[in-house]
Amino acid sequence: MDTSKKPSEVVDDVVVSIEYTLRVEGEIVDSSDEDGPLEFLQGHGNVIKGLEAALYGLKEGEKKHISVPAADGYGEYDAEAIVDVPRSEFPPEIPLKPEVELEVSDEDGDVQFAKIVSLTKSHVKLDFNHPLAGKTLEFDVTINELRAPSPEELDHGHVHGHGHGHGPGDKFDYEDDDEFDDDELVYEDEFDELDEEDDEEFEFEIYDEDDELDEMDDDD
Ligand code: ZN
Repeated sequence: MDTSKKPSEVVDDVVVSIEYTLRVEGEIVDSSDEDGPLEFLQGHGNVIKGLEAALYGLKEGEKKHISVPAADGYGEYDAEAIVDVPRSEFPPEIPLKPEVELEVSDEDGDVQFAKIVSLTKSHVKLDFNHPLAGKTLEFDVTINELRAPSPEELDHGHVHGHGHGHGPGDKFDYEDDDEFDDDELVYEDEFDELDEEDDEEFEFEIYDEDDELDEMDDDD
């Protein structure tokens, strides 16, 4: 696209700013009221597939209700994403009881979120499904603003600003490193694939909704 002109409608490579409310089964689960409009680069998979696909052609100020089936949202519920982990793998600080939510890092440093479902004497049953897996997502979206990306944003495939840019000396491209916080709905693909090898070493942290994570590394 011509990055010198203000875009008139949503097409690929346009920076889209939306206000939105996300409802699941009638309950509001996320909204831009709390954190302000969500800005992203259209056509780069920065937001969930079904949402992005429904935005093409919209103009500033336009509103749309978008119903996203689970397959185009956070995925279908996957029974194989329920995993038994020996109790011995958990550091003692982790409270082993149902409903506790954990951040689990594998050997590659990839972070997954998991919830404790149930426990036996020897094992902990973890559910790695995204909490919204299997759910239809009902978005009410207003196109807040459209703008051309900077050459750098286009090159990186994502927007900068809002704390998501690159500070001086930042060697690494920004990549999903704060998924599941206030930009929860932006990143979906981390949850799609679960490494099913049993002999992986995991690190466990308690997931805190306020994003204040206590570091609890499993060193063995
Ligand atoms: Zn970047």
